[in-house]
Amino acid sequence: MGRIFGYLLQLVFVFILLRFLWQLLRRLIGGVRRAQQARGRPSSPPFSAASEKTFRDPVCGMFVSLELSHKLKSGPETLHFCSHECREKYQAQRVH
Ligand SMILES: [Zn+2]
Repeated sequence: MGRIFGYLLQLVFVFILLRFLWQLLRRLIGGVRRAQQARGRPSSPPFSAASEKTFRDPVCGMFVSLELSHKLKSGPETLHFCSHECREKYQAQRVH
């Protein structure tokens, strides 16, 4: 009798475990679908409030807009700095 009870308990445990795994899998698939939908929509940029293009100052980490940034050509890409000082600092670092 005790063995049958143990077997049933095991069965219930496996059932609960499978249900849990199934829900986890469904949530994962749903999350991926949502992410793909968000990426597919061109009208929703990752930074919702910022409509203009911003660049990260590599020296101080500040975000600067394209119009206000101090630009520096570095190979194929253009770097953007918040101030003249930051640009100078970056250029000094590159020389050393
Ligand atoms: Zn800066």
